[in-house]
Amino acid sequence: MDDVRFPERGLAADQVLAELEERRAQDADWRGGRVPLFVFKGSESATSIGQAAFDAYFNENALGAARAFPSVGQLEREVVAMALDLFGAAGQGAGYMTTGGSESIVLAVRAARDHARQARGRADWRGNLVVADTAHPAFDKAGALMDLEVRRVRVGDDLRADPAAMEDRLDDDTFMLVASAPCFPYGVIDPVAELGELARRRALWLHVDACVGGYLAPFVRRLGRPVPAFDFSVPGVHSLSADLHKFGFCPKPASTVLYRDTSLAAHQPFAFDVWPSGPFTTATLVGTRPAGAVAGAWAVLRHLGADGYMGIADRLMRGVDECRRGIGAIDGLRVLGHPELSILAVAADGLDVFSVAARMKARGWVPGLLRRPPALHRMMSMLHVESLADWLRDLDEAVAAERREPGGGGRETARY
Ligand SMILES: *Cc1c(COP(=O)(O)O)cnc(C)c1O
Repeated sequence: MDDVRFPERGLAADQVLAELEERRAQDADWRGGRVPLFVFKGSESATSIGQAAFDAYFNENALGAARAFPSVGQLEREVVAMALDLFGAAGQGAGYMTTGGSESIVLAVRAARDHARQARGRADWRGNLVVADTAHPAFDKAGALMDLEVRRVRVGDDLRADPAAMEDRLDDDTFMLVASAPCFPYGVIDPVAELGELARRRALWLHVDACVGGYLAPFVRRLGRPVPAFDFSVPGVHSLSADLHKFGFCPKPASTVLYRDTSLAAHQPFAFDVWPSGPFTTATLVGTRPAGAVAGAWAVLRHLGADGYMGIADRLMRGVDECRRGIGAIDGLRVLGHPELSILAVAADGLDVFSVAARMKARGWVPGLLRRPPALHRMMSMLHVESLADWLRDLDEAVAAERREPGGGGRETARY
């Protein structure tokens, strides 16, 4: 660890803040679009209203919504209601806000497990989940926490979950199937309708992980671009996770986890009543939660509305089209599969992409990479549309340099 001790004396606020500014100089230039994941932008005004609303509720605690901050509870219920409407479960569904996709997924897996325990009448029963090998590691994190087996199944040639291959891995202890909409590695949407059919036939819980695409896909679809149905309009879908802090363009940490009906959602809250302080009930894994994230999400949804999200989706997808044209114009590069949204994985025939990535890193771009198959990886928001011309120019140069002198710029490795 760094050789740092607890400070004996405090420092003036401006001195501390100046030091922070100095330290962040070593970070990657995300504002300039040089970080291909972790940060998102829809529009200047969405970012600033999210931040202003977060600041307005900076001190409040969403854990205290029921007893002290009814406005926070109301804002949260309205965010969830808006989300249910967007995903085709208005009126009948129920859901919760969480601090992120991983928390939403862990909670949905626990709800599904408890639903299966109830159906089997066995409070200690443990089963397994069958997921495509493109599913997010949060499912394995849930498995590790709850001692559940997670069976990862290879995807089809189209890079999407293969329902027949998944069915082959089911047994009597399988309680859950997962579809990603889209998956992170390739950005393609799994065949949710077919998996819904399989879930119904085998009486399984189907979770749709729309963490990364949930708040973008409906608007891309309304633009008339091909996006298959992936939400509660598909029979068999039990629950769905969608991250506000990704393509919802809301401040971190904020996600939604939604259920087809209130009886499924009722499995999520944790209730405890055996300690000196009286009944304790929370719907989330965490206790104390930033009310700022609740207010920020509400404000961004209210500010953008469907027309605002459509406008962003239109500008973003035109940027993605331009990016694809630029990639196609570079000899040997091609986009893997048929991604519907703004995640692109780019393979390079006859080139080592890990070496190309090292050359991009030397030009100031944090590399995004896949290892199976080897590919460059990019999750585009407006940050990346604004910097697209620079990225394409540098990529063209990096590829040319790599052809002249293979491996001469070093080599990167793929990691999330
Ligand atoms: C980002 C992501 C998650 C996890 O979300 P966090 O907010 O990082 O916890 C889950 N699934 C997919 C497909 C993701 O891209």
